[in-house]
Amino acid sequence: MNCFIHPHKAAVATCKRCGKAMCENCSAYSGHSGECPECRNADYKRERAALIDERKSKIRRIVFEAVIIALVVLFTLLMIIEAGAAMLVFLIAALILVPFIVRNAKRLKAIKERLTFVEGEIAKLDAALGRGVAEI
Ligand SMILES: [Zn+2]
Ligand SMILES: [Zn+2]
Repeated sequence: MNCFIHPHKAAVATCKRCGKAMCENCSAYSGHSGECPECRNADYKRERAALIDERKSKIRRIVFEAVIIALVVLFTLLMIIEAGAAMLVFLIAALILVPFIVRNAKRLKAIKERLTFVEGEIAKLDAALGRGVAEI
């Protein structure tokens, strides 16, 4: 039996999900996890969709939270400004805002990095699966 992607190569394993035969090269792509490049590509496409959804909802949430924080800060500022404690309000606002920005920026960066990786793998796999002869 030969590899379903590389018909000139002998199969060394079958995919545990779709049952297709794959060569050493294709088996190695998934770290010999038993998953063929085609199934791995489908996984990456599902993950890409999930990451894009997560990024969208994350950005909506950041905008919502930022508006709430801004309103609270503004309201507090208006209440305290006459007592001459404006600096205190700015300090409190900074203490709330800095961790908020750092936390969200970290998660968005992680999403972006994973998305870049997943999209790179999808492009590579789509090209290899499409041509049927390319090395992965
Ligand atoms: Zn498979
Ligand atoms: Zn192969």
